[in-house]
Amino acid sequence: MSPAEAAEKLTLRTDFSLLIDGQSVGAAAQLDVINPATGEVFARCPAAGKAELDRAVAAARRAASSWSELSFEDRTTAIQRMANVLKANADMLAELLTREQGKPVQQSKDEINRAATLTEGMLKIRFATETLVDDAEKRIELRYAPLGVAGIITPWNAPINLAIGPLVSALYTGNTVVLKPSPYTPLSTLKIGELIRDVLPCGVVNFIAGGDQLGQWMTEHPGIDKISFTGSVATGKKVMASAAATLKRVTLELGGNDAAIVLDDVDPKTVAPKLFFAGFVNSGQVCMAIKRIYAHEKIYDALCEALAEEARKWKVGDGLDPATKLGPIQNRMQYDKVRDVIEDTKKAGGKFLAGSEQPKGPGYFVNPAIVTGLEESNRLVREEQFGPIVPVLKFSDVNDALRRANDTRYGLSGSVWSRDPERAAAVAAKLEVGTAWVNQHRATAANVPFGGAKESGIGRTYSELGLKAYMEPRVVSILKTPV
Ligand code: NAD
Repeated sequence: MSPAEAAEKLTLRTDFSLLIDGQSVGAAAQLDVINPATGEVFARCPAAGKAELDRAVAAARRAASSWSELSFEDRTTAIQRMANVLKANADMLAELLTREQGKPVQQSKDEINRAATLTEGMLKIRFATETLVDDAEKRIELRYAPLGVAGIITPWNAPINLAIGPLVSALYTGNTVVLKPSPYTPLSTLKIGELIRDVLPCGVVNFIAGGDQLGQWMTEHPGIDKISFTGSVATGKKVMASAAATLKRVTLELGGNDAAIVLDDVDPKTVAPKLFFAGFVNSGQVCMAIKRIYAHEKIYDALCEALAEEARKWKVGDGLDPATKLGPIQNRMQYDKVRDVIEDTKKAGGKFLAGSEQPKGPGYFVNPAIVTGLEESNRLVREEQFGPIVPVLKFSDVNDALRRANDTRYGLSGSVWSRDPERAAAVAAKLEVGTAWVNQHRATAANVPFGGAKESGIGRTYSELGLKAYMEPRVVSILKTPV
């Protein structure tokens, strides 16, 4: 270890603050943040309690009326300044994101730049008052009014991207925000809060880090009108139950078990790198990662071999090393779960074409694994593994593949792959999901709604549909007869 590396190891970063009512503030309690590449605490940030939450909600409520009265154009100008801040600080934020989350630094940069691009895309969507009836007797208008204060709760796999969708949706539609990142990855979000402190009026955005209980308090808080939650199905159900007490609106973006169905006419060598990327980028810790591959028997062996070949090419390591393509699993709990899934899969008779050997640590590293020889009932097929291990299952009849792909309580997304896109589209339309792709996977855009069917969520993010979830429809019905 060089002297510079040794010095850095000793220095705990503590330059983080909460953003409440336009002020950077501390808190009595602190959160330790671990770098998953080393398994060691490298930073500490303030942890909000009930008092900080109350102050943040009060500030958001105070700011709500003047923010809601601004035109879309004025809000666009302010939010565009936020996107500019993201772009201008992408390098600094990317390094911090990699240290706390683990992903390779280029992917961290991509996440930040994509957040800015999505922001700009959402700012192009316009809402006009809709006229439902306009005759001699009456005019009936459908308007949309902001809900008030949005509480946003985010997970650890893509902290910036998953904050920006709901944050911009809420702000652009005239709401103010209290946002809580995951306790595993609070730092890049807090740093953005610090950078945008003077870009938006006081109280319009409030960023508070804290543990799971802070999330629960947000769902219970009478001063919050809507919860936008991105995370696991289990926690999503708790959020919905808790929000019911105050009838808060909810948008739930939850887990998935995405299937990719590969038809008999593909070239395995062409398709394998695309499937691999969609399954393994961010070490499989992506809600819409490919988590099961159904391959036609005609191309099955060749595809499995091409996927295993791909797995052997992707270097696992510290995300700060430019050669790394797969970083560590983000936290100890998830690492233990993935290692457990690997052991269960071995016990169930799964054949590992790649990834049978696993690193010992330190750091939460897992080598990418391609597994064959499994049944539908095996844990790796049924559960959301959220790690770099994907089963490849054989089919001979496409209707059987569809039935197996749909035989799950998850319904986030899925894809179908073929030399004939229209043939694939006919199959894709039968997937019981929020998004079905053809010859691609993980493609989202600001003007296309994204969200889950079944237990993968409620509501959509992005597009006019997603933005309207932050607004209350309001009918204004005018009888033209003077009284
Ligand atoms: P998680 O559910 O454990 O935590 C998510 C957030 O909820 C964290 O900020 C956490 O502190 C908070 N939280 C925990 N308990 C809470 C409670 N009772 N009330 C309110 N908030 C609470 O999820 P995670 O492990 O951080 O994230 C991984 C999961 O997120 C995976 O299942 C993944 O598929 C899913 N995810 C979904 C999407 C999507 O868009 N559909 C995107 C990314 C991740």
